[in-house]
Amino acid sequence: MPVNFLNLAGLNVTDFKESETEYHVRATPVAVSRLCPHCGRSNETVSHAQRKLVIRDIPAHGKAVVIHLDVPRLKCRPCNQTFTAMVPEVDTGREMTERLARWVGRQALEYTYADIAKQVGVNEKTVRNIFDEYVASLDMQFKRETPVWLGIDEIKLQRFRAIFTNLQAKSLIDMLPDRYGTSIVAFLASLPNKSRITHVGMDMWRPYRIAVQKVLPNAKIVVDKFHVVSKANVAFDTVRRKIANADKGSSLGLKRAHKLFAKRKNDLNDEQYLTVSGWLNSFPELAAAYDLKERLFQVYEATAPEEAWGKYLNWESTIPPEMAKAFRPVKTAFRNWKPFILNYFDDQRVTNAFTESFNAKVRAVYRNGRGYSFERLRAKVLYTDMFQKRVRVQEKVRVRKQKFEDVAMVRFMCMGTAMDDEYETRIQTRVANLGVDLSTLEQAFDSGKF
Ligand SMILES: [Zn+2]
Repeated sequence: MPVNFLNLAGLNVTDFKESETEYHVRATPVAVSRLCPHCGRSNETVSHAQRKLVIRDIPAHGKAVVIHLDVPRLKCRPCNQTFTAMVPEVDTGREMTERLARWVGRQALEYTYADIAKQVGVNEKTVRNIFDEYVASLDMQFKRETPVWLGIDEIKLQRFRAIFTNLQAKSLIDMLPDRYGTSIVAFLASLPNKSRITHVGMDMWRPYRIAVQKVLPNAKIVVDKFHVVSKANVAFDTVRRKIANADKGSSLGLKRAHKLFAKRKNDLNDEQYLTVSGWLNSFPELAAAYDLKERLFQVYEATAPEEAWGKYLNWESTIPPEMAKAFRPVKTAFRNWKPFILNYFDDQRVTNAFTESFNAKVRAVYRNGRGYSFERLRAKVLYTDMFQKRVRVQEKVRVRKQKFEDVAMVRFMCMGTAMDDEYETRIQTRVANLGVDLSTLEQAFDSGKF
C-alpha cells in the first residue's frame, strides 16, 4: 500500500483502492485541533463520536482523488456543544484539502469551471466560489502603484468594461466588469494616495468625467486625442456609406477601401494613395468629407489651447451645409468637452495607452480563448507574474528622530510643540508594482502564449 500516496503530513493513509476513474484513500488525521468553535476554549473537550468525511484532493495520474477521512466529533464540556474536530490541511466546509482549493483557484485561470469541476469531481458553483476567493486574495497581494497620469479607457467584451492604465508607465492597473458611474467612483475612491494623480486621460464618456470630478477634484481631465479625431473618421464613414447605398455599382469597392480611408493621407503608400484619390475623384461629396476629416487632424498641430480652439472654429466654419449632419458628432464633442479637449494643449501632452490595435488583440483572445469569462481574462491578465512591471523607487520619508523619551518630553514642555529638528529626512527604497506592462502583454498575445 502506498503510504506516501497523498504526501500530506497531517494524514495517515490506512487503505487504498483504485478504480477506472478514481483513487479512493482511507485516512486518519495524525492530530486534530480540539478548539471549540462555539466558545473558543480548547482544553475541555471529550470525544463524542466518529465522523466519516469524504474529502476531495488534487487529481493524480488523470484520476480524481477521494479521501475517506475518519474525524472525531468532539463535545465541549463548558458550553455543551458538539463539533467536528478541525484537521490541518483539510477544508472540512468545502469537503476538500486546502491544497485542492488552491489548485482549483490557479487552474481556473486556464480552464473553464466546467472542465475543472468534472476533473475534480465537484460542482461548478464550488469552482466558481473558490476562484472568486482566489482572485480576491490576488487583488490583495498585487498592490498597484497609483499613477501620476491615470488613463481611463474601455473595451467591449460582450459589453463595455472600464480599463485603468498608468499613462507614463504604459501599464494596465485594473479592469472593471462594467463602466457604470458608480463602479468608476468606487474604483477611484479605493486608490491609495489619490492626491498624486495630476492628469486623467479619458474618452468622451460622461460618467468618467463626473466620477473623476467627484473623487479627484484636483486632477486635470484630458480628452484623448485619438477619440476626438476618430469622430471625424466616423463622420467620413457616414458619408461613404450614404454614397455606397446610392450607387450600388461602387458599394463593394468603397467598402473594401474602408481601412485606407481611415488612415491619414500622409500614411498611405503610392498604391494606396492612387486607390483613395481614385474614389475621391469619382465622388466630390466623398472628397469633401475626406478633406474635412484630414483637416480636423490639423487642430492637433496647435501648440497652445487658444490656438487649437481657433483652428477648430476655423475648421467648423468650413463644413459645407450638406456635410453638417454627418459631422455634427464632431461639433457636439468639441462643444460639450471643450475645456477637456483643450487641456491636451496645456503643459503636458497626455494621450491614452489603450490603442485600437491592442483592443482588437484582447477581443480576439476573449473570443478564441477556451470559453473565457471576463473574470478569468481579467485575473489572468492582471496577475500573471511575468507581465508585472516592477521598479525600485527611492522615496524621501520624514521620520521622527530616535531620541530618549524624556528629552523629547522636556522639549515638548518647554516649547509647547515638537520642533522641526526632531524630524529627519531619510531615503527609503522599495519595489513598486506599476501594473501589467502593456508591451509584454501584447507580445504574449502575438506569440499565442497567453
Ligand atoms: Zn465550547
